[in-house]
Formats: sequence, C-alpha cells, structure tokens
Amino acid sequence: MEIIRAKHMGFCFGVAGAIDICQKVINDKNNYNRNIYILGMLVHNEHVVKKLEEQGFKTVKEEEILQGKDNLNKNDIVIIRAHGTSEKIFEILKEKQVEIYDATCVFVTHIRKTLVEMEKKGYDILFIGDKNHPEVKGIISFGKNVTVCNDLEELLKVEIDKNKKYCLLTQTTLNKKKLEKIKSYLENNFQNVKILDKICGATQVRQEAVEELAKKVDMLIVIGGKTSSNTKKLYDISSNFNPNTYLIQDENDLNIEWFRGMNKIGITAGASTPEEIVIKIENQIRGIH
Ligand code: SF4
Repeated sequence: MEIIRAKHMGFCFGVAGAIDICQKVINDKNNYNRNIYILGMLVHNEHVVKKLEEQGFKTVKEEEILQGKDNLNKNDIVIIRAHGTSEKIFEILKEKQVEIYDATCVFVTHIRKTLVEMEKKGYDILFIGDKNHPEVKGIISFGKNVTVCNDLEELLKVEIDKNKKYCLLTQTTLNKKKLEKIKSYLENNFQNVKILDKICGATQVRQEAVEELAKKVDMLIVIGGKTSSNTKKLYDISSNFNPNTYLIQDENDLNIEWFRGMNKIGITAGASTPEEIVIKIENQIRGIH
C-alpha cells in the first residue's frame, strides 16, 4: 500500500497569514487582559478554530453584531477572518471603537477593490459564486449593481442588456472548469462583458493537482472542514475522476472498509487544513494495512 500526496495541498498563504496575525495579537503583552474576538470562523476548519479558542480567542458572529446582540466593548480586539466581511460590519465595528485586525486574504481584498472600481467606471457586476458563502456575501456588500450566479445554468436566466457594460468577477475558490464554460458562453454571445478571472492561485494549483492524482490512485481522501468551500471543490473534482473519493474532517472519520483491495491511496487537503491533521490521518491509514 502506497500513500501519495497531491503535489499541492493544505494551508495556503491566506490562511497561514490569518493564523499568524492571531498569534502575534495573542502574544503581544499589550493585549493581555483584553478581550480578543475572531469574527466568525477565522478559517473553515473546526480544528484550527478550536485550538484558537483554547488559546483564549472568543468568537463573535456577524448576525450577533448586526442584531446588536454581541458583547463587544470599546478597545476590545476583533480579528476579521481570511475570507473577509461586509461593509456594514466594518462600519459597526468602527462605531464601537474596537481595534480591528484585518486578516482578509489579499486575493479577497483585491476582488472587493476591483468590484468597487469597475462599478465606478459604469459596469454592472456579474458575480459567479455561492451567494451564501461569507466571502461572497462580504465582497458583494461593497457593490450596488451585483447579480450573483452560482453556475452557468443560473447565468443563462439573467437578462444581459447588450446596451450596458458588465464585468464578471468570481469567488476565489471557484472551480476553474466551471468558469471556462461560463467564459465560453459569454464570449460567444456578448461583446459587452469584461471577464476578470479571480480564482486564487492557491485554489487553482490544488484543483489541478487533485485531478492529476485522482486519475492515478485507487482511492482518494480529501481532508478538510465541512464548511470549507475549497475542500468541497477538491472533493467534487476528485469524484469526477475517481468514484472512490471520500471527504473527511479528521482521523475519526476514516472507515476501514474503504481500504479493502486498495493499493494506491491519494491524499489531498483543503487550504485551511493543518498539516498535523494530515499526518495523523496518514499514520492511521498505515496502521490499517
Ligand atoms: S484559498 Fe486563496 S483566497 Fe482563500 S485564503 Fe487561501 S490564498 Fe486566500
């Protein structure tokens, strides 16, 4: 039995950067005795979040802030998660005079800025992504004329006015192949849509690597949080090429039955999955055989 890791997997620099900010904040002596909050899940991985809570971080949810049900006080610290938040939340936090540490990934910030700039130039925005995902909710909150579509099917229902200018932007973790279909539809039917591909590099290389690996192994294990969008995409891509694909959060989710008759086991992990979880899983798999 052989375990083969995907060429690119695990922590991306956006997640690593967010965790780094948290560590700097908690280790700073000036912050002793201050309440330190993280807005929502810093990254979409329960293990990472739990570890931060054990270090003393508290979680505050966006809904609590919006409904005035939070316990934030002046001079508390609030760290904004890697996938950002909405304009309204930033406004409220400033009003409350808390100290904000913005751990929003540069890729997400860049999309947000592009959206605002393109609207100023007169473009309506077509945004491809999951409208329920915090990243998408946060980015589009900075716009005024934004239509969000999850996929080509939804985009086909949008009435695109040939007399207007449109700009197409995407969620950072969008599946590259999904975008290619959308691009080809728009390029073949409309001259007035400017397409700006905003899938982040870390997502893209992880998606390509899992496709390559899924084709050459007997089974593939995707490790990541249940709410992680990029992990789910890795699972979807692998499933397309290898029916023996399983998504697990940690070693407790492994099922010995999956491994019967399997020789080559592929492994990948979402961008917010810590290396220590991957190692525990690899060790457990070695124990099965
Ligand atoms: S997946 Fe991409 S956009 Fe998201 S945090 Fe990582 S580098 Fe940033």
